[in-house]
Amino acid sequence: MPPVAPHHPHLLAPLDLGHVTLRNRVVMGSMHTGLEDRRRDAGRLAAYFAERARGGAGLIVTGGYAPNRSGWLLPLGGRMSASAVRHHRRITDAVHAEGGRIALQLLHAGRYAYHPLSVSASDVPSPITPFRPRALSGWGVERTIDDFAAAATHARDAGYDGVEIMGSEGYLVNQFLAPRTNRRTDAWGGTPERRRRLAVEIVRRTRDAVGPDFVVVYRLSLLDLVPDGQRWDEVVALAREVEAAGASIISSGIGWHESRVPTIVTSVPRGAFTWATAKLRPHVGIPVVAANRVNGPAQADAILARGDADLVSMARPFLADPEWIRKAEQGRDDEINTCIACNQACLDRAFANRTVSCLVNPRAAHETELTIAPATTPRRIAVVGAGPAGLACATTLAERGHAVDLFEAGDAIGGQFRLAMRVPGKEEFAETLRYFGRRIETTGVALHLDHAVDVATLRAGAFDAIVVATGVRPRVPAIDGIDHPRVLGYREVLEGARVGGSVAIIGAGGIGFDVAEFLTTTASSTLDADAWRREWGVTDTEHQRGAIVAPERPPVARRVHLLQRRTGRLGAGLARTSGWVHRASLRRHGVEMVAGVAYDRIDDDGLHVTVDGRPRTLAVDHVVVCAGQESRRDLVAPLRAAGPEATDGTGPGVHVIGGADVAAELDAQRAIDQGVRLAARL
Ligand code: FAD
Ligand code: NAP
Ligand code: SF4
Repeated sequence: MPPVAPHHPHLLAPLDLGHVTLRNRVVMGSMHTGLEDRRRDAGRLAAYFAERARGGAGLIVTGGYAPNRSGWLLPLGGRMSASAVRHHRRITDAVHAEGGRIALQLLHAGRYAYHPLSVSASDVPSPITPFRPRALSGWGVERTIDDFAAAATHARDAGYDGVEIMGSEGYLVNQFLAPRTNRRTDAWGGTPERRRRLAVEIVRRTRDAVGPDFVVVYRLSLLDLVPDGQRWDEVVALAREVEAAGASIISSGIGWHESRVPTIVTSVPRGAFTWATAKLRPHVGIPVVAANRVNGPAQADAILARGDADLVSMARPFLADPEWIRKAEQGRDDEINTCIACNQACLDRAFANRTVSCLVNPRAAHETELTIAPATTPRRIAVVGAGPAGLACATTLAERGHAVDLFEAGDAIGGQFRLAMRVPGKEEFAETLRYFGRRIETTGVALHLDHAVDVATLRAGAFDAIVVATGVRPRVPAIDGIDHPRVLGYREVLEGARVGGSVAIIGAGGIGFDVAEFLTTTASSTLDADAWRREWGVTDTEHQRGAIVAPERPPVARRVHLLQRRTGRLGAGLARTSGWVHRASLRRHGVEMVAGVAYDRIDDDGLHVTVDGRPRTLAVDHVVVCAGQESRRDLVAPLRAAGPEATDGTGPGVHVIGGADVAAELDAQRAIDQGVRLAARL
């Protein structure tokens, strides 16, 4: 009997798969990092996976590799072929050296391919890619199955412990399973049994090709979340058939990429879909994996303790913290750098064809380039401002061995992030401040709250280097009547100022959208999974194909007008993977979005604007200003005038990071990245 783990005993229990034992129940789920596509990145990828294996991940699944050219996500994308075996050896050797296990994901993009070789079950175009797919011929289907099996043998030859066959998220295999995309009447469509044949044959021929001592994970779409998706009886039948065909594990997939239901963004309640995994589990004899919006050890352990699943898959949490498992094992949960599900540095970058990273951990997928080594010359360093930039910089400096004083004008750490975490659907952001709070303790940063430092204090401290991370102050636009009592700033509103029943918001950037959400929401549905499901129209698949119904309108707290001067769609600049969720949510909350606005004046009657040449008065109780920010850098010039200026950015002097450096297009991703990179150099 292996010893029972004192912390999170269900999560950290080993899992015996017969020929191999996983050291715990945690799967590091597949994530495209952008390093899969070029063989010269194999070393970087090996370092990235090795760090996660060292941190204790039970089974790592790589990003998706196509079994053939038509399956590429992008032209010349990652593909598993005989010639790739040598490069993959670097990855598998690195993971095995750390005692880890790793499976290669085989993903055929089908009609989600971003190239003209795109194929699918039928020639039904996808709403999210420009290339109309060609319907595979019967011979083409047979060849595709053989390509999956051949790619799996190459993976085995490269030293992988298994493969994951991507059967969900709306990729090729999923396209064959659903009537939405499979209009065939031959041996591969027309009835549920025939639609399932591709998936089952891929598993069968893969198992035949790789033999019994190899893990075959099948990623199964439990909820398609699109019209004309699969029905529950079809999902269960598929699970049983892939088990019989030789799958070792069934991993949960939720929602197609084209679905209009969010599945992983931060406003999705934690563990919102584990009920579907629990519903499947009694129907199969092999282990099942729960996934989506799982990010903490206690939550993951509870999923297993309830019997909802045998394993838990987390992908982004391992970008945020490669030592997630190690810390959970040692009862150091409060030291975990929690993934806040923002998608900003991972998925949004992946969709822009850039190498991914992580907002809260800029080293993710950049391990070989951004190293945190002990300081050669320990120094006394002052960091001014405990927003994301200052927190990241101060704690990294202290980790390297510098003596760090962190000064914060407010009575708590966090800067603007303290406001962000008050927005309904952004509650997770508090985790980042919990993490930094604990890291201040563990690294020994001397934190001085309620200390609005000035130049004289800093000079008197005789520091070797000073980092100015004083952030931003809200811009006050030059509008007639801007000092009227009915005008409020976003900070006052988010900090709890009394706001009337009708509001006009000036500025529709990220903060304008967040404030509109804050003002119209009665209770955060992120914290109430049932309310969230009703709001997004998610139902049981028992009788409803695809598991979606018409969304319910949530109760609305206020009437809000969201305004911008630019013409064109509001929110066009919001992030690719989350912007549509914000826009849909505000539409559902009845927010009136108006572009091309000229602000005339604010007076006792409300806000007077001109839109399309026509004057209009918005008779609102309050006008809330969300018109961007300006850098707060009052300290910079006097400090630089007084002391030695940093010449090469690596030594003593005055350094400026985050919003204090540049306010335009500032976000926490840039603030933290700048903070860590400066600290790694000093
Ligand atoms: P700040 O956060 O402004 O921190 C500066 C700190 O310096 C403050 O705590 C301030 O009190 C302190 N300070 C200033 N002067 C002094 C002094 N003289 N002495 C001592 N201390 C001083 N970003 C994202 O990436 N994703 C999001 O989803 C997101 N949502 C947001 C939602 C809202 C509602 C808001 C307001 C912001 C959001 N942001 C988001 C933006 C993000 O919070 C900022 O980009 C980030 O906080 C900037 O970090 P910073 O450290 O440069 O500055
Ligand atoms: P922003 O995105 O730059 O938006 C500022 C808004 O104010 C724009 O709509 C702009 O539109 C308007 N504006 C600018 N100057 C104005 C003026 N003089 N008078 C009237 N309106 C003016 O900035 P933000 O909303 O303050 O957000 C700050 C940063 O936080 C952003 O860069 C963003 O990255 C980050 N953030 C991110 C998220 C997220 O979900 N990822 C959420 C919140 C914040 P017009 O000029 O067209 O009127
Ligand atoms: Fe999580 Fe955001 Fe980091 Fe992506 S960028 S891993 S969503 S914290």
